[in-house]
Amino acid sequence: MPREWYQQFHMVIAGLDSIKARRWINSMLASLVSFNEDGTVDMETVIPLIDGGTEGLQGQARVVLPRITSCLECSLSLYPTDPLNFQLCTLAHTPRQPEHCIAYILHKWTENEYDEWKGVKLDKDDPVHMTWIYERAKERAEQFRIAGVTFKLTQGVVKRIIPAIAATNAIISAICCNEALKLATHGIHLKNYMAYAGGAGVYTNTFEYGINPECPVCASVPLSVDVDPSETLQDFIDRVRQDNRFQLTLPSMSVGTGDSFRNLILQGKVGLAATQQNLSKSMGELVSDGMDITVTDPVLAAGVSLQLIVKFTHPHS
Ligand SMILES: [Zn+2]
Repeated sequence: MPREWYQQFHMVIAGLDSIKARRWINSMLASLVSFNEDGTVDMETVIPLIDGGTEGLQGQARVVLPRITSCLECSLSLYPTDPLNFQLCTLAHTPRQPEHCIAYILHKWTENEYDEWKGVKLDKDDPVHMTWIYERAKERAEQFRIAGVTFKLTQGVVKRIIPAIAATNAIISAICCNEALKLATHGIHLKNYMAYAGGAGVYTNTFEYGINPECPVCASVPLSVDVDPSETLQDFIDRVRQDNRFQLTLPSMSVGTGDSFRNLILQGKVGLAATQQNLSKSMGELVSDGMDITVTDPVLAAGVSLQLIVKFTHPHS
């Protein structure tokens, strides 16, 4: 959907299924805010985001007034990184949990490393595919003396199932609707986060997330990143992706503007083919100390980018 489509709404109530999707809508709404000549926010352009989410018997609701209150990205480092996003080296060499064994087999399938399944797209609802993965994962777990690989767990890891409980969903959606009503009628709202815990009892608490002055989305200040001039672009990308402050997925990077504009890495088939040769080059060859790197990523809406200032950790010789 084009940006104009989002502009038509007075508020957005989101019940999304991933942090990625939340970050995307958060950055989209922040990018729609314009500023008056004196630098203050043009309130007409602020579209509040009411975000709800549940996981089993837990839930949360949050209200964001883009560019006024803290946004989802301000507190990104507090989000857990995806619990099923394991390091490949752990999966390959030091599996410790049954999930590691399942994720390893799944990874090898998607990388076409099994002759019998070469070119076959995994169908998560096909019992033949799932049984095959379950059995291989079980064998691998036995080799490493890890217990607990079951067919059910295999389904859980492969499909990434988080249980949804209708009662929790009803409670959180009621809170979101209540916030929408408060905003629409009285201009008041939750400040700015509420957690609901329905597991051991029925607990709620609220607290206010502060504005992060280095928030990549709403502060729009360039962030400094340490760069070792001898590391390759690939190493740098891997490091930035794992950096809790950014949590990127498939970043594209460029430097310079106008005539000096250069793409360091572009994602997507065509882009990657054109820039792939940079991956093995050293950062010292590609950028210089103090240079700005512009980063875009699928978790950020189109038109939203991060600015990273290169800070060489030791002089390039
Ligand atoms: Zn922010």
